[in-house]
Amino acid sequence: MKRTRSKQLMNRARKVIPGGVNSPVRAFGSVGGTAPFLVRGKGARIWDADDNEYVDYVGSWGPLILGHAHPAVLRAVRAAAASGTSFGAPTEREIKLAELVCSALPSVEKVRFVSSGTEAAMSAIRLVRGATGRSRILKFDGGYHGHADSLLVGAGSGVATLGIPGSPGVPPELAALTLQTPFNDVDAVADAFSRWPDQIAGVLVEPVAGNMGCVPPVPGFLEGLRTLCDRHGALLIFDEVMTGFRVAWGGAQVRYGIRPDLTILGKVVGGGLPAAAYGGRADLMGQIAPDGPIYQAGTLSGNPLAMAAGLETLRRLREPGAYVALEARSRTLAEGLAERAQAAGVALSTSAAGGMFGFFFHPGPVRSFADARKADPEQFRVFFHAMLDAGIYLPPSAYEACFVSLAHRPIDVAETLAAAERAFRKLRTARPRAPATGSRPR
Ligand SMILES: *Cc1c(COP(=O)(O)O)cnc(C)c1O
Repeated sequence: MKRTRSKQLMNRARKVIPGGVNSPVRAFGSVGGTAPFLVRGKGARIWDADDNEYVDYVGSWGPLILGHAHPAVLRAVRAAAASGTSFGAPTEREIKLAELVCSALPSVEKVRFVSSGTEAAMSAIRLVRGATGRSRILKFDGGYHGHADSLLVGAGSGVATLGIPGSPGVPPELAALTLQTPFNDVDAVADAFSRWPDQIAGVLVEPVAGNMGCVPPVPGFLEGLRTLCDRHGALLIFDEVMTGFRVAWGGAQVRYGIRPDLTILGKVVGGGLPAAAYGGRADLMGQIAPDGPIYQAGTLSGNPLAMAAGLETLRRLREPGAYVALEARSRTLAEGLAERAQAAGVALSTSAAGGMFGFFFHPGPVRSFADARKADPEQFRVFFHAMLDAGIYLPPSAYEACFVSLAHRPIDVAETLAAAERAFRKLRTARPRAPATGSRPR
């Protein structure tokens, strides 16, 4: 597959944009090769600058649950744009989207819209710190909540550890306020609460981890977090930026029946335009300015175009059968990949939840970031490029979840599995290397 034009564009981009990209994972750092520059998308398909066609499993990293350029979403955005692209003043679409979000998520009584998941997560931890008067936050190894200082931390060593800066520029003093424990390990969280009594403001979790591959919660994990937070006076925050309106109507809290105190949304809620949100109990949200003293603001927050795209997207998702269809599609893909890998003698573990799925080149089970890191990076790299050259666009990192949309048709899935069968056979000749240890770029 030729990518001459993409290569030229990347060389040009690198001169004026760091790494040629506006978000690191797009540079293909962990898989190598030339990232296709994309020019258009329609339904489940995308086309690059060399006019190569791909079946897309990235979906702009999650928002495009209806597929690319959905006619109804485009209509809604065009209509909104025709009346003005931004006011920085209240508009009715914000109420409609807020009402829809509050009706879908049982734990959300009030919601504030912002422009990115990073901003929503940053605002949510300010709120839990302000509301509890405590400073420490607990998150999980391999959990990603955007790039705010407090949340961009790496794990130290030991069971429950103080965070270390995940990037130069994150003050160690701030990183140390973020505790990090293994995902799916309730005992480690209990241990952290006893080591830092009355100091933990909130526990922040991706209820289905989606930034270390796709790792569902083991039974009892989310329940355990709810119990521990209640016992120790901490707030439970579900980061549903990825899982919200993707693993169920209403997100993981509906799927698993757990009520967090606060929820962070993004991606699908903006329907492919920049919108995100945080919301929860009315008494907590009442502490946000202007009702309360905790400050948070945004020039483009609740942007009319983004509200229009989000509203139209959610309305389509509310139609009966949407999540049954999404789940069936991701299960077919996950199970199809597992069968074909097994037939080719390749160790692969797969998972699926609603409209997301993932796979690891590792026999499994994969329940934590430590497990995920045992997967073979070289096999992933070879598989990724074999798929890309066969016209299947997967996330260019072994630690990302794959996404299906309502636009993926049976023929897309069949093409994908046929390409995978050939790619797995190719792998038998690839030489395994030592597992990766570093954190992944995003
Ligand atoms: C994508 C993501 C974020 C960050 O959202 P941005 O809009 O990229 O800032 C936060 N949390 C989770 C779980 C995500 O998947």
